Amino acid sequence: MIMSKIGYKLFIIISLISIGGLILTLFLVNSQVENHFKEYINQEKREEINKLVDVLEQKYQEEGVLELDENLLDNYISNQNIIFYFTNKNGELIYTNLRTQGRRQEDFDLESANQEVLYDQNSNQIAYLYWQLPGRHRVETVQQSRFIENVKQTIFFVAAIIIFISLVVCLLISRHLTSPLLKMNKMAAAIARGDYHLRVKSKGNNEISELGDSLNQMSDRLEYLEKTREESTEDLAHELRTPLAIISNYLTAIKDGIFEADASTIEEMKAELGRLERLVNGLEKFAETEKKLIYSKLEKLNLKNVIKQSVANFRKQAENKGIKLYTSLEDSLFMRGDSDALKIVFNNLISNAIKYSATGDKVKVKLTKENNMLVIRVIDEGIGIPKKDLPYIFERFYRTDKSRSTKTGGTGLGLAIVRKLVRAHNGEVSAKSEAGQTIFKVSFPPLP
Ligand code: ADP
Repeated sequence: MIMSKIGYKLFIIISLISIGGLILTLFLVNSQVENHFKEYINQEKREEINKLVDVLEQKYQEEGVLELDENLLDNYISNQNIIFYFTNKNGELIYTNLRTQGRRQEDFDLESANQEVLYDQNSNQIAYLYWQLPGRHRVETVQQSRFIENVKQTIFFVAAIIIFISLVVCLLISRHLTSPLLKMNKMAAAIARGDYHLRVKSKGNNEISELGDSLNQMSDRLEYLEKTREESTEDLAHELRTPLAIISNYLTAIKDGIFEADASTIEEMKAELGRLERLVNGLEKFAETEKKLIYSKLEKLNLKNVIKQSVANFRKQAENKGIKLYTSLEDSLFMRGDSDALKIVFNNLISNAIKYSATGDKVKVKLTKENNMLVIRVIDEGIGIPKKDLPYIFERFYRTDKSRSTKTGGTGLGLAIVRKLVRAHNGEVSAKSEAGQTIFKVSFPPLP
C-alpha cells in the first residue's frame, strides 16, 4: 500500500495517540480491577471476622472463657490463609495460628496488623484479635487468582482487538486525508512542468476540497491563458494581415486595371486602414496602460466628478445613435486613484454599452456605496453577452463574436485594459448579462 510521507506521519501520530490512550486506560482499568477485587475480598473477610468476634464475645458472656481454636476458625473463616493473633486485654497471647501458617512469632508485627477489640456486656475491653492477610499483594485462593487472571486476559484480548481496529482505522483515515493531497501534489508538479491537463475530483466541503477547487480553477485559467497566448499572437497576426491583404489586393487590382481607383474603392481601403489604425491604437493603449500602472499618480478623488467627465465624452455619440444616456451618481464618495486611468475604465465601459446597444435603448451609469465599497454600474439594454463568453470577456483579444465585433470595430482589448486598471486600484470588475440587460459592475475600496 503506497502512502505519502505526510500520510505516514499522520498514521504514526494518530496511532501513537490512540494506542497510548488505550494503554493508559488499560493500565488504569487493570489496576482498578485488582484493587476493587482485593477490596471486595477484604470486605468479605471483615464480615467473617466480625462474626467470629461476636461468637467469642458470646462465649465469654456465657462461659466466662476467652478461647479460640482451629475448630472455631474452620467454622467461621472461609479462607485459612489469614494470620490470627488473639490476646487478652493485657496483651498476653491466647491463641495464634502463626506456626501453622509457617511464620515465626517474632515476625508478626502487631502494629501493622488489623485489630478487632472484644467487649463484655458492660463495654469493657476484654481481648484483642489481630489479623493479617498473608501477603500484601497476594490474592488468597487459586480460584480468585484465576478469576483475576481471566479478567486481565479478557481486558488484554479486547485491547488487542481495539488496537488492531484502531490501526486499521488510522490507516484508512490517513489515506483518506492524504490521497487528495497526493493527487494535488502530482497536479501541481504537472503544472510546474507546463502540463495543465490534470484535474482533481474534489469531494466534500473542507479546506482540502477548496484547495482542489482552487487548483482546478488555476489549471483552467493557465490552460486558457496558454491557449490565448498562442491564439493572441495568431489573432494579432490575423488581425493585421486581413486589412493589409485587402488593401494589397485592391492596390494590385487597380495596378492591373481590374479596378478603378474610384471613390468607393478608396473608401473601402480607408475603412481597412482605419481598422489597422484602431488595432495599433488598441495595442498602444494597452502598452500605455501597462506603463500607467507603473507611473500612476494616486490622489484623493471624488468619484462622481471623474464619472461625470467620462459620461460627458459620450453624450454626443449616444444622441447620434438615438440612445438615452442616464446617470445616477451619489456625491462625496472618495477614493484614492489616478483620474486618467479611471476615466479610461469608465470610457471603455460606456463606449461598449453604446456600441452594443441599438437605437431607442437606454444606458445608465450609477454610483453608490454598498457594503463599504464604492460601486459603479454601467447598465445597457443592448445585444447582451452569451453566458459561455462571460468568464473570458476580460481577456486580451477576446471577442464574443468575431464577425460582429469586426463590424463594430472591436479589438478585444478594451475590457482587458479595464480589468488591469481596476485591479491596480485594488478594485474588482465583473459582468452580468441576462433578461435583456448587461451590467458591468466595478467596485473600489473607499477612502475613509
Ligand atoms: P471590443 O473592442 O471588441 O469591444 P472589449 O474588450 O471591450 O473589446 O470587449 C470584449 C467583448 O465583450 C466584445 O467583443 C463584446 O463582444 C463583448 N462586450 C463588451 N461589452 C459589451 C456590452 N456592453 N454588451 C455586449 N457585449 C459586450
